[in-house]
Amino acid sequence: MAEFTTPTLKPYPEIPPIEIGVMAHSKPFKANPEHQQKIGFPGELVDNWEQVAVEKMGELVSKSRALRVFLDSCVKCGACTDKCHYFLGTADPNNMPVARQDLFRSVYRRYYTLAGKYLPWLVGARDMDQELLDQWYSYFHQCSQCRRCSVYCPYGIDTAEISMAAREIMDHIGVGQKYCNEIIGKAQTIGNNLGLPEKALLNTLEGLEEDIEDETGVAVRMPLDEKNADILLVTPSADFFAEPHVDGLIGYAKVFHQAGLSWTLSSHASEAANFGLFIGSHENMQNLALRVREAALELGVKRIVFGECGHAWRVAYSFLNTLAGPFDFLDQNYPVPQHICEVTYDLIQRNQLTLDKSANDDMVLTFHDSCNVSRGSRMGDMPGGQFIIPREIIKAVCNHFYDMPSDTIKEGTFCCGGGGGLLTDDLTELRVKGALPRMEALKQVVDQYGVTHMAAICAICKSQFSKVLPYYGFKMDQIVSVHQLVGNAIVLNREP
Ligand code: SF4
Ligand code: SF4
Repeated sequence: MAEFTTPTLKPYPEIPPIEIGVMAHSKPFKANPEHQQKIGFPGELVDNWEQVAVEKMGELVSKSRALRVFLDSCVKCGACTDKCHYFLGTADPNNMPVARQDLFRSVYRRYYTLAGKYLPWLVGARDMDQELLDQWYSYFHQCSQCRRCSVYCPYGIDTAEISMAAREIMDHIGVGQKYCNEIIGKAQTIGNNLGLPEKALLNTLEGLEEDIEDETGVAVRMPLDEKNADILLVTPSADFFAEPHVDGLIGYAKVFHQAGLSWTLSSHASEAANFGLFIGSHENMQNLALRVREAALELGVKRIVFGECGHAWRVAYSFLNTLAGPFDFLDQNYPVPQHICEVTYDLIQRNQLTLDKSANDDMVLTFHDSCNVSRGSRMGDMPGGQFIIPREIIKAVCNHFYDMPSDTIKEGTFCCGGGGGLLTDDLTELRVKGALPRMEALKQVVDQYGVTHMAAICAICKSQFSKVLPYYGFKMDQIVSVHQLVGNAIVLNREP
């Protein structure tokens, strides 16, 4: 890993003077042939890769009208240029959303527009060649597909879709990314990203049951593969092994316990994350989504609830039905699927949980909105429910809550810096620099209100912050799960 300097936190975000090519060296490790072939891609760079890439681009553009509109409609107004956290943190102009798009658009113009075919120099059209492929591999792995730029673009151009298409094309010519593709292979064969087999999962859950009973004196169950439970909980596998994730899982279990809901985890679908989204692969996304359907049918559940995972909720909320539906065998009186925050919020509204807010009095909280929840999904039956519900839960279980500056939260939230399949140590420099805008916003509420902790509902955000907080002078345990706060506040040995 290259040496790098952590950016300095400033009182207010500043647009950096550009430094051309300063992040060109940043590239994730490439997938090896085994990782590639396991999920249906060529093991290495195919012979006629330029032609294959161009043909794949044509196929994608003809299948997706949205992609074609995004490529055709940019007017170079510049509104997006300072909206990407990776540009703000790195100063590399190729991390301006419009420049990132142009790496793709230039090839599209060259092969799929009249002007680009005959007057390429006039319209910025470029041949697909090795130099461009190197830039693609670098800069399409410097986009966390957070969609912040699309909020500020007058045409709503979504760079995330273009990044996904670029990654899909690269996979099809044999140039995949190790982190994502290895994980997808594991999830498709073992059932989760960690490669945690059923027995290890069972042992982990039993250990957590013992921990809760030791701490509270109450036997709270964490059932696995329990047939005919009402609820199948599908949660990120990070929840099974590391803090603060595991504290969130304990929180979900306490909520189900106190509400008297019957629930189970599944060893077949022991992963909410769906990295097929990150590589733009419909087939891989579908294979992973089908495991959730299979588990629900096999276990005979009535409801499916997703745990705290940002992109998993986007896939679940926006695509699960088309990927793996219909889910007409589930109880239609509940949302299909449902988010754990919706379950908890509903129980709080109906006074079904006994909560002691003072249990969290050692913390002053703020909340980090995860990109895929904020800009790619919703919660509840009200506009903006994805912003309201997590905050209302936090306020119901904590006495001290303050939001970060308004242009850094909700629809305008800044990415944690590790989303979109970039949460890998080979991209540490990018992750640290990309976290700058969020760290600056956090610093403001730390200084202004004495905020001590930041809560989140995304496994990737939590892992990313645990890693990057210390680079900016914070402590790694200043990131907490929302359901960790709920779990702390639930009074188990009293009836609601
Ligand atoms: S989607 Fe997010 S990471 Fe990608 S270019 Fe836009 S703002 Fe940057
Ligand atoms: S804001 Fe939209 S139209 Fe303007 S330069 Fe960016 S992508 Fe193009």
